[in-house]
Amino acid sequence: MKYYSTNKNAETATLHEAVVKGLAPDKGLYMPEIINKLPKEFYDHIEDLSFQEIAYKVANAFFGEDVEPEALKKIVYDTLAFDVPAVKVEDNIYSLELFHGPTLAFKDVGARFMARLLQYFVKQEGAKDINVLVATSGDTGSAVANGFLGVDGIHVYVLYPKGKVSKIQESQFTTLGQNITALEVDGVFDDCQALVKKAFMDKELNKHMKLTSANSINVARFLPQAFYYFYAYAQLKKANILERNNKSNLVVCVPSGNFGNICAGLFGYKMGLPIKRFIAANNANDIFYKYLKTGEYNPKPSVQTLANAMDVGDPSNFARIYDLFEGSHKDITSLISGATYTDEQIKETMNQCYNETKYILDPHGACGYRALKENLEPGEVGIFLETAHPAKFKEKVDDIINQDIDIPTRLAEFMKGKKQSINMPNDFNAFKSFLMKA
Ligand SMILES: *Cc1c(COP(=O)(O)O)cnc(C)c1O
Repeated sequence: MKYYSTNKNAETATLHEAVVKGLAPDKGLYMPEIINKLPKEFYDHIEDLSFQEIAYKVANAFFGEDVEPEALKKIVYDTLAFDVPAVKVEDNIYSLELFHGPTLAFKDVGARFMARLLQYFVKQEGAKDINVLVATSGDTGSAVANGFLGVDGIHVYVLYPKGKVSKIQESQFTTLGQNITALEVDGVFDDCQALVKKAFMDKELNKHMKLTSANSINVARFLPQAFYYFYAYAQLKKANILERNNKSNLVVCVPSGNFGNICAGLFGYKMGLPIKRFIAANNANDIFYKYLKTGEYNPKPSVQTLANAMDVGDPSNFARIYDLFEGSHKDITSLISGATYTDEQIKETMNQCYNETKYILDPHGACGYRALKENLEPGEVGIFLETAHPAKFKEKVDDIINQDIDIPTRLAEFMKGKKQSINMPNDFNAFKSFLMKA
């Protein structure tokens, strides 16, 4: 399969090139040239398949030409070593719990898949080791570090702003050791990102070592997220709550920031997955919501909210959604509607849901739940993606719903680990000389 750039100003790339490059040379995002529809028999019997079996079929449609079948199967099975259950919250509203992976957030799926795919290419080439540079304000660093942990031939450098990430988040990428190095930068998130960007452009450094990025624009990180949309459908179909005729009554609601997650769902839709419509739920960063209303896309600086992993003022994957529908505002709005919530509304929703159903939402999932509750029409069944475990935001959640929620063992284990990080001034020359010695 070839991958083209959404800016249409770069040569097409192979999967290997697209994964190593991340962004196309014309700064566009890579898109697969063909989206294969899956056969009717697959959908007819999807409820009889396991998550891994479903995911392998979906992965095969994208990566089957470029990865040996047995290797691809192993990559998929190793990635999905945890469940993604659809849990009933109340009548007609389900939560797809994407937080049963190593760092308790949905980004684990893409990060683990990308790590294993990259390892496959490194081995195949017998080439030099690859170094992944990732700047993080919290969640991405932990998912990437844990996804790549112990993967041969790949070293990960996580750059994070000193004193600006929560203790829980910090423990998830500073306690790992092995092939993971955490760099504590004397600066803010934007400084970390600037250091990483400069490193990619530095000729001498790139001659010295092979560098790549692992953010959500990477095809190997965002496409595997399609797997769990299929599995969500399979679970609801199995539970006998979807319409049996060909007309789907399933509404999927996705709390969105950079729009990689919902974009993967839209790929599923294009592959024939019976979803009636999507809702993109935003926090106060409402750029996409405004686009749906006006047809105009106006990026602006992000504002800080309770659902901070969605604090994005210029969602990168908008370019993919736009491309997928050939820029047609009409087609986009006929399939996707939007919602936007203030911090006050997020708190109110977490309380209301807890009091009425005892289900504990995290601030991101709360946007999804509320958007379904406000927009679901008679006859429809809704599922929202619960993108993180509430304990990842324990202090906030406890405070809002006035409880002392449990911390899963896995999270507690991280917090017991010993912090290993290297102090780094906010200075490119210092960062470069550190990498040159590595
Ligand atoms: C990253 C993240 C999001 C946003 O996902 P996008 O793919 O960027 O839209 C939502 N919730 C949580 C918890 C996240 O970590």
